[in-house]
Amino acid sequence: MITAQLVPILSDNYAWLLRCSSTGATAIVDPAEVAPVAAAIDAAGGRLDMILLTHHHGDHIAGTDDIRARYGAKVVGARADAHRLPKLDVAVSEGDTVTLGASTASVIDTPGHTRGHISYHFADGNVLLCGDTLFSLGCGRLLEGNAAEMFASLAKLARLGPETLVCCGHEYTESNARFALHADPGNAALVAYAGKVKAWRAEGKPSLPSLMADELAANPFLRAPDVATLADLRGRKDTF
Ligand code: ZN
Ligand code: FE
Repeated sequence: MITAQLVPILSDNYAWLLRCSSTGATAIVDPAEVAPVAAAIDAAGGRLDMILLTHHHGDHIAGTDDIRARYGAKVVGARADAHRLPKLDVAVSEGDTVTLGASTASVIDTPGHTRGHISYHFADGNVLLCGDTLFSLGCGRLLEGNAAEMFASLAKLARLGPETLVCCGHEYTESNARFALHADPGNAALVAYAGKVKAWRAEGKPSLPSLMADELAANPFLRAPDVATLADLRGRKDTF
């Protein structure tokens, strides 16, 4: 099965180090800063089979070519965005699978933040790598896509089930919680979860990965019943 370990990079990004527990095969997701990513790979044994990219933004791809050169890993990313990603060894889109050791991820098209954004789901380990689509208590800004696309993307991720570990690209949870409490003050599950987040962050602990069950109960963007509600929430958050 796949285990996921976060690697703090840049100011508030996370890369994710994935490991297949039965074979030792290893992958890194969104390695945008070389030194901390290389340190994490070396600490785990120095093996890197794959680099998985969620989308083309610099804070997700910047270290890719250096890490590829250092470890000889294969780079996987969205076929739709191949023209603006580092050179891909494997170009994928919805319905494709990516095999890491003895485990397989399904590729999910999740446009909204960017047109070519993809997510990876390892059912064996319940690990979801969702970049800047779903955040804990929030979702990505609609930089290229529209609310209807983001609504459909979030719905696909929600269907992966309550046990899913949400491994997203940023530690935005505490500021997302402030808006979520403003938007949905009567949600007792949100109030309780926001309190936990505040305590974790005060102790210097990451808030991720989160559990999809908690997102389904507390994340107002994931809970939006229709596109219009999601569009309204996203617009208000942009100026909050
Ligand atoms: Zn982004
Ligand atoms: Fe980002």
